[in-house]
Amino acid sequence: MGQWFTERAARDGQRPAITFAGHTLSYADMLLQIDQLAGVLQSGGIGKGSRVAYLGFNHPMFFVALFACSKLGAIFVPLNFRLTGPEFEYILNDAGVHTLLADAEHLAVLDPVRERLVCQRYWCAHGQTSDAARWPDLAQAMACSTPVAQAVALHQDDVAAIMYTSGTTGKPKGAMLTVGNFWWNHVNELVMLDVRPDDVLLTSAPVFHIGALNVLALTNFLKGAHMVLHRSFDPAAALRDIAQYRVTTLFAVPAMLLFMTQHADFAAADTSTLRYVMCGGAPCPEPLLHLLAERGILVQQGYGLTETAAMATALSNEWSSRKIGSVGVPPLLTEVCIMDSAGQPVTVAQERGEVCVRGMNITRGYWNQAEATQAAIDGQHWFRTGDVGYFDEQGFYYICDRVKDMVITGGENVYPAEVESVLFGHPAVSEVAVIGVPDPQWGEAVVAVVALKPGAELELEALREFASLHLARYKIPKHLRIVDALPRNATGKILKYKLREG
Ligand code: ATP
Repeated sequence: MGQWFTERAARDGQRPAITFAGHTLSYADMLLQIDQLAGVLQSGGIGKGSRVAYLGFNHPMFFVALFACSKLGAIFVPLNFRLTGPEFEYILNDAGVHTLLADAEHLAVLDPVRERLVCQRYWCAHGQTSDAARWPDLAQAMACSTPVAQAVALHQDDVAAIMYTSGTTGKPKGAMLTVGNFWWNHVNELVMLDVRPDDVLLTSAPVFHIGALNVLALTNFLKGAHMVLHRSFDPAAALRDIAQYRVTTLFAVPAMLLFMTQHADFAAADTSTLRYVMCGGAPCPEPLLHLLAERGILVQQGYGLTETAAMATALSNEWSSRKIGSVGVPPLLTEVCIMDSAGQPVTVAQERGEVCVRGMNITRGYWNQAEATQAAIDGQHWFRTGDVGYFDEQGFYYICDRVKDMVITGGENVYPAEVESVLFGHPAVSEVAVIGVPDPQWGEAVVAVVALKPGAELELEALREFASLHLARYKIPKHLRIVDALPRNATGKILKYKLREG
């Protein structure tokens, strides 16, 4: 990464690389910062294999740090800014992070645990710090550094990043992503997606997450294209900047699209420059896809995990309107299969099983967790995703839901995503999640947790009647819980374990 960015900047130095808060950095500007930061890190003892963590809201410095680490062969550890002090302590010590870069807004959360961290160096990555003795200003150090221009030679098996999975199902595990994993994801994207040098990509999902980082974003830089970066997702700002910067591509999780379409500015917003939206990270309700299609916004679904370095499947432009609801097909160099409960690949269309992925983009395993690695990757190199899915007669894949979220009621399997997709079409429903709760008669009972549209009302019977038009009886919710809003993680995924707890 360090090397190709240097090459790109040598060829396209004056082209815009990132616009953030109205200020644009060219490729040459960014390269200068990368080389300066590599100088700071190197003189602080960072070399090949050292771990450097980044904690902060979206900011160009995140990408500068990623490429600077790569120049030195250091391992980049992006952190989820929503975590708490003890969670940071766990991850930073698990990864053995040597140097921590944090923005000014996140210094306070680290203070209570700082004494217990194995980190040796701390920098305030940007913003004003009142504690410059403990959090020295990175920009000042970069201005005085000796820039490192030459990238160290790396092998494709060298680890480039450790990305902790978001923990929607348990304790975070650090997926090791190699130089090769990143590279093959670029190849996959260049084969599957239409990425052009004159693209303007809007990035407003958090870049510590594999989706915002590695679906389009890095490939966009590889092509010499322009990124408009937002500090965090704000539907009004997204709609405004799509028009202002004539944005052509966007990565979004379904929740972002939902909040954009529900925003008062949506109706009048100019989205005509958007060639397509890559949507992934969670199941996307079909009514939402139809709503966007009616508006002329082409949504391509993609499916992937941190452990697949992003893309495992994608639906190409030509199929996206004909295969609504499908996550597409694997790229040329990645294999996907549906595994039955005996660990054998399913050969029949429509039969459900666990989605498994194999290819050069699959993680080497989990940092410090040999057992978890063995459980996830079998002897044939298939990575078990923990998701249930199937393929249709034309070989297009569909994701039903996570194995762990599946509800078993009266011996029947209910995939919450399917029920959610239907309930989302009810006019009173703004957000919906479906979970299972223990039930003495049925084993588990289907529960709909709903946030209502302003002023709307909803009774269980009305919801059941609506659902019965589209769903078999056993899938229809037995209980309805109304909430103000659904609990979501930083990437917009619904935290179902929280709903099950309460
Ligand atoms: P954890 O593994 O700790 O629970 P996480 O699952 O959120 O965290 P990620 O790697 O961020 O970790 O997300 C991958 C998961 O997101 C997939 O396993 C799948 O359940 C879901 N997902 C991703 N894309 C899609 C999609 N297009 N449709 C349905 N689900 C998707």
